[in-house]
Amino acid sequence: MRTLAVLGATGSIGQQTLDIVRRAPDKFKVTALAAHSSADALFDLIREFRPAAAALVVEPRAIPEDLRACEWFFGENAAVRMLRAVRADDVLSAVVGIAGLPAALEALEVSGRLLLANKESLVTGGQLVMGRAAALHKPVLPVDSEHSAIFQCLQAQQGNPLRRLILTASGGPFRTWAKADIDSATAAQALGHPTWKMGPKITVDCATMMNKGLEVIEAHHLFGMPLDRIDVIVHPQSVIHSMVEFEDGAVLAQLGVPDMRVPIGYAMGCPVRIPFGGERLDFAKLGAMTFEAPDMERFPCLRMAVEAQKAGGVTPVALNGANEEAVGAFLKDEIPFGGIARVVEAVLSRTPGRNVTCVEDVYEADRTARAAAKAVIARGKTV
Ligand code: NDP
Ligand code: MG
Repeated sequence: MRTLAVLGATGSIGQQTLDIVRRAPDKFKVTALAAHSSADALFDLIREFRPAAAALVVEPRAIPEDLRACEWFFGENAAVRMLRAVRADDVLSAVVGIAGLPAALEALEVSGRLLLANKESLVTGGQLVMGRAAALHKPVLPVDSEHSAIFQCLQAQQGNPLRRLILTASGGPFRTWAKADIDSATAAQALGHPTWKMGPKITVDCATMMNKGLEVIEAHHLFGMPLDRIDVIVHPQSVIHSMVEFEDGAVLAQLGVPDMRVPIGYAMGCPVRIPFGGERLDFAKLGAMTFEAPDMERFPCLRMAVEAQKAGGVTPVALNGANEEAVGAFLKDEIPFGGIARVVEAVLSRTPGRNVTCVEDVYEADRTARAAAKAVIARGKTV
């Protein structure tokens, strides 16, 4: 039985994580749950899983009588203090955005393993997180499906050098759209992902393909792979979740239905695979798998993300901060869809190349980028 803290418990990944706990109650005991402001949803989860501690960034008006035995934490760093109090074996972070970085770093200090869905913490603090994990000999297990696929393929590595990583991308809802149509896409269109059901921020990131750019950076940090040896290939069926290529030309892939409970469950049980309650892959029904090169012209966010990581230092932090602000503004109908890439581009053009030496450098660069992004977003529909 492993004890588990779930951060972002009320979200898409958080709920699917708890679904796995429901199916394997003999393997996992939830000892801590955290969310941002969805108090009622968190209350229901606490009634069901009875954790020792819980955290909310936004303090609710009252804690129901029956939930007062739980130790409560509120405010910006509530999850960090909660992790310190419970010291769970495993911490699964499914927070969205750079907001997950402090808790990811704390999880390494106080817990045994970090199961990481929150890719933005690696995009912004990758060197710090992976450096601390290495120093403390704590594993960072990927939850993101592509990185889980690579991690699973690497179980067959046996000391052999890798030639490259091949990340698959669905291409998102605008894969076949003309550039002008993409530019004026609505939030409803951007939120209609063809193969995956996810939270709103990552769904918009998939539509711009910023998500794949963030994943290239995530793979670079997780697997220590140089950027020029990480390829992206569009594979609309989302059945091959990613691949690794060895020196002899052999390519290993991990396949399955697009269901996040598979990579989440692999990280939770690792190295033991947990029986899966979902649909199984039916090759005859699938019929064909297709592949195409990504179009950097129609999807400039992918190109900008890779270039930002090449520039290094605070540049990927600025990219992420600008993107978080721009996606939020797009979802509030303040800027057009095409404006997301233009906000990011404008912020990057104003970001001086600076090194990251400590986590405060990351937060400072994030604040600066968000302020610059807000100034661009203020132009509204003309962005
Ligand atoms: P959701 O928006 O569905 O859920 C986000 C969760 O994080 C909610 O529980 C939310 O709480 C909490 N949260 C939001 N903001 C903050 C904050 N500032 N501080 C603390 N907690 C916060 O997101 P997803 O589950 O889709 O994604 C979570 C992460 O996993 C992202 O980094 C995403 O890129 C990654 N990921 C997601 C996949 C998916 O299939 N969904 C696939 C691969 C990676 P509240 O409900 O109170 O707002
Ligand atoms: Mg992914």
